[in-house]
Amino acid sequence: MKTTIGPITIECFEGDITSQSDIDAIVNAANAHLAPGGGVAGAIHRKAGPGLYEECKALAPIQTGEAVITSGHGLPNPFVIHCLGPVYGIDKPEAKLLANCYRNALKLADEKKLNSIAFPAISTGIFGYPITEAALIAFRTFAEESPKLQHIRTIRMVLFSEKDLQEHLKAFQQVF
Ligand code: ADP
Repeated sequence: MKTTIGPITIECFEGDITSQSDIDAIVNAANAHLAPGGGVAGAIHRKAGPGLYEECKALAPIQTGEAVITSGHGLPNPFVIHCLGPVYGIDKPEAKLLANCYRNALKLADEKKLNSIAFPAISTGIFGYPITEAALIAFRTFAEESPKLQHIRTIRMVLFSEKDLQEHLKAFQQVF
């Protein structure tokens, strides 16, 4: 599914975040230490190779809601933007912290004059954020931030399962 806000296309697809070869920066749902682990971070670090963690060590630790950028190493993307999402029920206010991840990642990509960015559903795996609420926050933040972006032309949400995609499509239609 796709929509446009001015010159920006917002997309929502099922797929693997590590296989988005037409995208300048993919977003990692990272941990504070920017270390390889499970979920998205594990998949990204595996495909990128050990050079990614070497670069990450100098930038860690990061705060909840913060975003930092590295190169993509063995990934098909020139850049990775690492965000620390809130742990649901623990880091508060969780909605604001999750929105900060999306906002700060978009701002960072735009400052670097990148054309395209792809996000996984941050915090909805190990961190336990309910998928529907998280989807609404992601899309509302895209809608709020898009008019402020100078360089980004594609914002893609990549969902890892059919069920997560369906929840996102409902939220997408609600927001856009
Ligand atoms: P968090 O710790 O922020 O919850 P996770 O990595 O556990 O991060 O999960 C975030 C979301 O990413 C979950 O919805 C999970 O299903 C999804 N996911 C896991 N692997 C991938 C992948 N390779 N590409 C896209 N999404 C993925």
